[in-house]
Amino acid sequence: MTTSPYLQRAHKPLKNQLKGKELLDSSSLNKGSAFTKEERESLNLEGLLPPQVRTIEYQLQMEYEHMHQKKDDLEKLIGLLALQDRNETLFYRLVIEHLEETMPLIYTPTVGKLCEKYSHLFRRPRGIWITPDDIDNIPKILSNASEEEIRLIVVTDNERILGLGDLGAGGIGIPCGKISLYCAGSGIPPWATLPISLDVGTNNLDLLDDPFYLGYKQRRLKGKEYQEFIEAFIEAVKEVYPRALLQWEDFKKENAMNLLTRYHRRIPCFNDDIQGTASVAVAGVFSALRKNNTSIKDQRIVFAGAGAAGVGIGDMIKMAMKDENIDPELLDLSVVYVDSNGLIGHGAQRREAYKQKVALSDTAMQHYGFEENRIYSLFEVVEKVQPTILIGTSTIPGLFTEKIIREMAAYTENPIIMPLSNPSSKAECTPAEALRWTEGKATVATGSPFSPVSYDGKVHHIGQGNNVFIFPGVGMGCILSEAMEVPNEFFLTAAYTLAGLVSDEQLAKGSIYPQIDDLRKVSKEITIAIMKKARDMGLGRLLDDEEIEELVTKSIWYPSYQKYV
Ligand code: NAD
Repeated sequence: MTTSPYLQRAHKPLKNQLKGKELLDSSSLNKGSAFTKEERESLNLEGLLPPQVRTIEYQLQMEYEHMHQKKDDLEKLIGLLALQDRNETLFYRLVIEHLEETMPLIYTPTVGKLCEKYSHLFRRPRGIWITPDDIDNIPKILSNASEEEIRLIVVTDNERILGLGDLGAGGIGIPCGKISLYCAGSGIPPWATLPISLDVGTNNLDLLDDPFYLGYKQRRLKGKEYQEFIEAFIEAVKEVYPRALLQWEDFKKENAMNLLTRYHRRIPCFNDDIQGTASVAVAGVFSALRKNNTSIKDQRIVFAGAGAAGVGIGDMIKMAMKDENIDPELLDLSVVYVDSNGLIGHGAQRREAYKQKVALSDTAMQHYGFEENRIYSLFEVVEKVQPTILIGTSTIPGLFTEKIIREMAAYTENPIIMPLSNPSSKAECTPAEALRWTEGKATVATGSPFSPVSYDGKVHHIGQGNNVFIFPGVGMGCILSEAMEVPNEFFLTAAYTLAGLVSDEQLAKGSIYPQIDDLRKVSKEITIAIMKKARDMGLGRLLDDEEIEELVTKSIWYPSYQKYV
C-alpha cells in the first residue's frame, strides 16, 4: 500500500529547527510554558519564559478560565484567535475538548460579527486575499501562502456571508472558521489547509465609505471579468497545489451553482452550502424514517422554499429513492415544491431556470388534481399531496401555520417536520408548535438550535441539522483517497453514514442527529465511508477496506506537543 506520509505526520515538521524567540513566535511549534527544562536549554529559550514548566492540561484549564472571564462572545472569539496565533496546538485542543461551547464562537453566529467588523478588529492576517489587480500573479500569491503542500482550500468571494450579505474582505473570517472546524472535526492537519478570500470588490456601500476598510475599494467584479478572474484562480490552484481539494464557500446562489457546474470535473471541489446542507438534511430524514420504521421510497415530501437549500435536499432525496429502486411513476409524485408564488407545477412561470427543473410534471399535477395556470397556496398543496414530510427552507417565520400542520397530522401517523430556515427567528414554526399541533406525534428537526420541548409528560429532543457533521469527514475522505472529483453520491453516502451513527436511545428521545461532542468519531466514520465509495466509483485510491481504516486511523491529526530534543 502506498501511504500518504505527508498527512500521517503527527506534527508539523521542524524544518529549520527554529530556536529562541523565533520558536516562541511560531504558532505551530510554540508550546509556551510547556517547554521542558531540557528544551529550554537546547533551544536557546533560557530566560525567555517564566521558570515554571506546565503541562498542556494545566494550560488548557487556564485558557478555558480566560474564555469564561469574558462576558461577550465576540471578545471570547478574539481571545481564541489570539491563542490560535500564539499556540495552534493549544487552540485546537481547547476547541476539541469543548466543541459544543467553542463551535458557536469560532463559527456561526459569532464569527459573523467578526466578519462585519473585520477592518476595525484586524490584528494578524490569516489566509490570503486575491484581488482583480493580481490576476496575472495568482500562482506567486498562492506560493507565498505556505511552504507546505496545501491539500484543502476553502475559498469565498465574500458576497453572501452567512445570512449577512456582502462583507467584502472581512468574509475571510468564514473560510478561516470553517478550516478550524475541518481540523478540529476530522483531524486534517492545519498546515495542509489554506483559507482564501477572492476580494473582487464589494457592493456594500458602508464598507466602501469606511476610511478604515482594508479590502479592495471597488464595486464588485461581475460578468465576463468575474468569470475570467475565477478561471485564472482555478488554473493557478491546479498549478501550485495540484492535489488540493477546494470548497466553495458563501458565494451568492447563482454563482455558487454555476461555479460548481463549471468546475466540478476540472478540480476536486464541492459547495458545502448546496451539497453539505442537502446531505445533513437527508441524514435527518433517514434517521427519522428509521425511528418510524419506514423507507424513503414510501414518502411524499413537500418543500416550502425552492432555493439552493430546498432544491439540493430534494435532489438528494430523489437520488436516495432511486437507490431503493422506487417505481418511476411514484418518484414523479414524491417531491413537490412551493415557493413565494405557490406551487411550482407544470407550466408555472419562474425566472430561475433551476426552478423549472423541479416543477411537478403534468402527470403528477393531474394525479393530485392541480389545474395548470392556477396558484396553489402551501395549505392547498398540503391538503392535496398529503405529505409525510414537510421541509421548510423559505426563510419565512410562521409559514407552517397551525392549520397546515393540523391538516398534515390528520392523515399522517408519524409526520416529519423540518423547519430548517436560519436563524431560529426565521424557522417556519417552532418545535413546540409542531409538537403541540400534532399532539406530540411529530419528529422535528431544525436548522438552528432549539431547547428540548416537553409535551404531555415526554421530553422531545430537537435535532439540529448542522453541516459540520458532514463536511469535515467528506473533505478528509476526498483528500486521503485523492478523489478526482466530489460527486453528489459522496454526500448521499455521508448522509447514510451519519444517520447510522444515531443510536436507538437518541432516536427514542426524538433526536435524529448525534451529539456535537461525537464529531470526531462521526467524521472518522464518514472519512472511511467516503474512501470506500470513491474507490468503488473508480474515483479514488484502490485500497482494500482494512488498508483504508488503517490509513484513516494513522492520518488523523490530534493536537499534542512534540518532543523537540
Ligand atoms: P434562498 O433564498 O435560495 O431560497 C428561499 C426560497 O424560499 C426561494 O425559493 C423563495 O421563493 C422561497 N420562499 C420565499 N417566501 C416563501 C413563501 N412564503 N412560501 C414558500 N416559499 C417561499 O435560500 P436558501 O439558500 O435555499 O436557504 C433557505 C433557508 O434554509 C435559509 O434560512 C437557510 O439558513 C436555511 N438553511 C438551512 C440549512 C441547515 O439546516 N443545515 C442549510 C442551508 C440553508
